[in-house]
Amino acid sequence: MNFNLTEEQRQLKETARKFARQELVSVAKEMEETDEPMSDACRRRLGEMGFLGVNIPQEYGGLGLTTFDAVLVLEELAQISPAVAFPVFESCFGPSQSILHCASEAIKRRVLPRVCAGELIVAVTMSEPEAGSAMTDLTTRGEIRGDKVVINGQKRWCSGAGHSGGYLLYCRMADKPGAAGVGAIYLELGTPGMSFGKRERLMSMRGVPSRDIFFDNVEVPAENIVVPVGKFKDLMTTFSVERCGNTTMAVGGAAGALEYAVQYVQERKQFGKPIIEFQAVQMRLADMAMRVEAARLLLYRAAANASAGIPSLRDISIAKCYANETSREVCANGVQLMGGYGINKDYGMEQRLRDSFAWGIGGGTIDIQKTNIAAELVGRRFDQRR
Ligand SMILES: Cc1cc2nc3c(=O)[nH]c(=O)nc-3n(C[C@H](O)[C@H](O)[C@H](O)COP(=O)(O)OP(=O)(O)OC[C@H]3O[C@@H](n4cnc5c(N)ncnc54)[C@H](O)[C@@H]3O)c2cc1C
Repeated sequence: MNFNLTEEQRQLKETARKFARQELVSVAKEMEETDEPMSDACRRRLGEMGFLGVNIPQEYGGLGLTTFDAVLVLEELAQISPAVAFPVFESCFGPSQSILHCASEAIKRRVLPRVCAGELIVAVTMSEPEAGSAMTDLTTRGEIRGDKVVINGQKRWCSGAGHSGGYLLYCRMADKPGAAGVGAIYLELGTPGMSFGKRERLMSMRGVPSRDIFFDNVEVPAENIVVPVGKFKDLMTTFSVERCGNTTMAVGGAAGALEYAVQYVQERKQFGKPIIEFQAVQMRLADMAMRVEAARLLLYRAAANASAGIPSLRDISIAKCYANETSREVCANGVQLMGGYGINKDYGMEQRLRDSFAWGIGGGTIDIQKTNIAAELVGRRFDQRR
């Protein structure tokens, strides 16, 4: 087994690292302060760099590289902040990947080149007020009437809602219970009957707007169906790519916190010497480094073994869980190592701690992932409803 990156991968990672550090640090600061989404110009820069389509085939405007390559790029951006990394997360791991793997050729050609160029953001909307972890309880209906689908219902927690131009909507397209009746359809901002709730005030992810979405007799051509009823498994399979992005965001946040803490403890002096001289500080730093490296290795394994770009449920559930817990622990240790400065907004570590909490909730909570891991261990799924 070879743990080294190829020369091309090393160069890709380096390019992303330089770009992130030169062009995204001030953008991240501004997004955190203003809570405004990334500017169109900055998103287009991500497109010009090829970062929005790392693992999207060239025929759709991407670089045509692998999920693993996309992980390398996303981690570098996530080390700066999740807000500046979010467009790459959405395009290389999020709903655009469901479109790539499941949609018709016409939709792929219509949507993906614009996503890769930074001209279009596609958000995913599946959660509902009464359907979070139990997502297959969703009640938003997509009634098929001839060549149209008529949508009615309410969605919650949509990251990018109101700001994104495209939406991958999970809805109930047949009178069948649970997953059997759920499909997904693509629609665009401005479709009559679609409206948005108030901007949610979240402790994490400033600069990534989250809102409810309301659908009141929204008509969408049936050709926009991305995943028809009966193919829910396909949707969940591509969701493993989303979990890979979630894991990368968590690893990136933890690695960024570690890097900052390493620098800080060498500069901060107490009792007449840099605090790195104290053994307790050394131990805490070593624990942080061990966790980051282990989380990264689990992520790399899941991404490197991803067949057709999709990691296995077992690999990615383990990696996601571990990285989600790691990022919270490492960022909390970062705050502790910085004392009062750790909780001071001017120093950035408190933001990392706040942001670290998001990943263990989104994309399937930590406890739900653990249920998946146990199911893989014993070779059967656990029915959560009985
Ligand atoms: C940063 C972020 C971005 C998000 N972006 C989007 C988005 O773009 N689009 C979208 O559709 N959704 C999005 N979500 C929503 C996300 O998918 C849900 O928050 C998540 O599925 C959990 O649902 P819930 O919040 O309703 O919590 P609940 O499902 O109510 O869970 C509450 C608690 O109960 C536990 N729990 C529930 N059921 C079980 C069980 N069977 N076994 C053990 N424990 C259980 C959970 O682990 C959790 O700790 C986002 C969330 C976050 C944090």
